[in-house]
Amino acid sequence: MFESLKPMPADPLLQIIAAHRADTRSDKIDLGVGVFRDEAGGTPILRAVKAAERYLVANQPTKGYLGIEGDPVFTDLLRPIIFGKNGGDASLVPGIQTPGGGGALRLGGELIATARPDAKLWLGTPSWPNHRPIFEAVKLEVREYRFADLTTQTLLFDEMMAALRQASAGDVVLLHGCCHNPTGLDLNHDQWREVADLCSANGLIPFVDLAYQGLGESLEADAMGLRTIFERVPELLLAYSCDKNFGLYRERTGALYVKASSADLARNVASNLAVHARVSWSMPPDHGAAVVRAILEQPELEADWQAEVAEMGQRIRAVRRAIASAAPSLSAIAHEYGLFSNLAVSREQVDALRTEHGIYIAPSGRMNVAGLKVEDAPRLVAALDAIGAL
Ligand code: PMP
Repeated sequence: MFESLKPMPADPLLQIIAAHRADTRSDKIDLGVGVFRDEAGGTPILRAVKAAERYLVANQPTKGYLGIEGDPVFTDLLRPIIFGKNGGDASLVPGIQTPGGGGALRLGGELIATARPDAKLWLGTPSWPNHRPIFEAVKLEVREYRFADLTTQTLLFDEMMAALRQASAGDVVLLHGCCHNPTGLDLNHDQWREVADLCSANGLIPFVDLAYQGLGESLEADAMGLRTIFERVPELLLAYSCDKNFGLYRERTGALYVKASSADLARNVASNLAVHARVSWSMPPDHGAAVVRAILEQPELEADWQAEVAEMGQRIRAVRRAIASAAPSLSAIAHEYGLFSNLAVSREQVDALRTEHGIYIAPSGRMNVAGLKVEDAPRLVAALDAIGAL
C-alpha cells in the first residue's frame, strides 16, 4: 500500500540542525532552532525544574494513569498566571492538559471543526510554519492576510483589521499572545482592544496562541493582550505552552482552555475535548506537567522560577539591544519581543550567511535572537553587511 505515498519534504529547520551539527567551524553560530540559550550557548534545565524533579523522585507516589484531561491541578495552577488573579473561572473556562502548545492548537482545531466545520481560520502571515498545516489537518479553511512587512519590520495593523472585517460571524482569528513567531512584532494594548472590539461586534472567535509568556516583557505584561480580549468576548480558545517559559521543550507540556458563554456549554466543550483527546493521544504525557505543578505548589520554587523567567527575558532584551546598537538599520529589533526576528533576506543570502560566515538562520530569514551571545552581535552585523542584508 505504501507505494502510493509521495515523498514529503523534510522540515527546513531540521535540515539546518543537521547542517549545523556537521559544521566543524568552532565559531559557528546557531540562530535556527527556536530554543532559549544562555550567554554560554546552552539550553540548561532551569533550577526550579531540577528542584521539582528531585522533589518528584522523592515524593511522587505512582505512575498510574492520570486521565484523559491530564492533571486538573496543573491546569488550575496555571490559571492565575495566564488569566490573572481570580481569572479564568473553571466552570466557564474548562482546561485540558495537552502535549505542548502544538497539541493544544490541534485539539482546539478539532473542537472548532466539530462545532462549526465551515468556520474559516484567519491567519496573519508570516506565522509559525506549523499553524496553517495544523488547521488544514482538521479540514478548516485557512484565510491568510498580511500581518507584517519584513523590509520595514513593521506590523501591518490596518491591513490586519481590513482583513478581519471580511470575516463572518463564527470565524476564528488566530492571534499570537506575545512574542510573535517569527517576527517579534506584537500588538500594543490599544490594538488588542480594537481586535477585541471587532471580534465582539462581529461574532469572531479569538484563538490565542500563548507559547512564550514571560520571554517578552514579563509574565504579567505578556498576558495583557490575552486578558484584554478574554474579558471582552463570550467565547475564546487559548493554546498555552510551558515548553519555553519552563524550559521543558521535550517534555511536551501545555494546555488548552476554552471560554464558553455558560456553564452548560462549558461542560459540553469539556466533554468534546475529552473525546478528541482520547482518540488523538488518549492521555497527555505527565512529567512536564508534574514538574510545573511541583513548582507552582511550592512558593520558594515558584519564586525561583519567576526569577529565572525574568533572567531569560533580560538576556533576550540585552541581545536585541546589542544588535540594534551595532546596526542602526536594525534598530527595530530592540523594540520586538521574544525569541525571534525575521530578517528580510533572500534564500541566497541565508545560504551565504551559513557558508561564508558560519551563521545559521531559518531559510525564511527567521533568526532566533536568543541563540546569539551579546558579544557576537557585532560579528552578526558584519556578516549581514557582507552579504548585503543591511
Ligand atoms: N505556537 C508557537 C507560536 C510556537 O512557536 C510553538 C513552538 N515553536 C508552539 C506554538 C508549540 O509549542 P510546543 O513546543 O509547546 O508544542
